[in-house]
Amino acid sequence: MASHIGISPERFLETPPGPRGETIREKFPDLHAHVDSGRPVAERTLPPWTRARAITLHKAVAGATDPDSLRTLDARLLTDSFLRSEYRKDQNVYLGPFFLDRLTQATPDVVFQPVSATEVASALRWAKAAGVPVTLRGAGSTAMGGSVPAAAGVVLDLTRLDSVEILESEGLAVLGAGARFRPVHEKLRSRGVALRSRESEPAPPSRPDSRSRRRDPVAARRARIGSPACRSADSRGAPG
Ligand SMILES: Cc1cc2nc3c(=O)[nH]c(=O)nc-3n(C[C@H](O)[C@H](O)[C@H](O)COP(=O)(O)OP(=O)(O)OC[C@H]3O[C@@H](n4cnc5c(N)ncnc54)[C@H](O)[C@@H]3O)c2cc1C
Repeated sequence: MASHIGISPERFLETPPGPRGETIREKFPDLHAHVDSGRPVAERTLPPWTRARAITLHKAVAGATDPDSLRTLDARLLTDSFLRSEYRKDQNVYLGPFFLDRLTQATPDVVFQPVSATEVASALRWAKAAGVPVTLRGAGSTAMGGSVPAAAGVVLDLTRLDSVEILESEGLAVLGAGARFRPVHEKLRSRGVALRSRESEPAPPSRPDSRSRRRDPVAARRARIGSPACRSADSRGAPG
C-alpha cells in the first residue's frame, strides 16, 4: 500500500476521511472499476433492482454521450454493494445506523458519475421516464444527510464535473458542479489570483441567485476572483 499511495498504512489510517478519500482517488481514479472487476454492467452479478436500473441507465446514456466518454461509461456506473453503501453517508453527525437502515432506503440502487451536461440530462430524462428517485451529490460534506438517498434509486455523483475555468479579464472563475475547493485554490494560485468570496457569504449582485443554481445540477458556479490578498481578507474558514 505504501508504495502505491505514497504513505504508510498507519499514516493513512490516521488521515481524516476527506483527505484520505482524495489520496486514494488521486492514485486510483477508477478504484470502483477494480471492485466491479472492470466488467461491463450487463455481465455483472447484481441484485435485481440494481441490475435493471444500471442496464437501462447505461443504454440511455450510451445513446447520447460522445465516443470518448462511452469508453469509460461502464466504469462510471457503480453497482458493487460496498461502493454503493459508501453513498449512505455524508459528513453527518445526526444520522445513526438506525435512521439509515430502518427509516430510509439510503443505499442507492446505482451510482452514476457523469462527465458532461449531456450525460446528466440523459440520466435525468431516464429517471423521469422510469420513475427512479434521483439524489444529487457533490462532495457529500453536508452534515444532515442532504446527499443521502431517502428512497434508493440513482445517485448522480458529480465529482467528475470538476472543471475550473479562469476568465481573468472578467474577474471570474467558472467552476464545474463537482469542483472542490482545494484544486480550485491551487489552480487559481498558479495564475496569481484567488477567490474573493465563499459560498457561505452574501451573493454579489452579478452572481446568479442560489435558487436557480439549485434547479440546474450542472450549472457552472461563477465565483469572483481577485488578487491573493483578497482571499486572506475575505476568507471565513468554510470547509470545502
Ligand atoms: C464541519 C462543517 C462545517 C461547515 N461549514 C460551512 C460553512 O461555513 N459554510 C457553508 O456554506 N457550508 C458549510 N458546511 C456545509 C457544507 O460544506 C456545504 O453545504 C457544502 O457547500 C456542501 O457541498 P457538497 O458538494 O459537499 O454538497 P453535498 O453534501 O454533496 O450536497 C448538499 C445538498 O446539495 C444537493 N446538491 C449537491 N450538488 C448539487 C448540484 N450541483 N445541484 C443541485 N443540488 C445539489 C445535494 O443533493 C444535497 O441535498 C459545513 C459542513 C461541515 C460538515
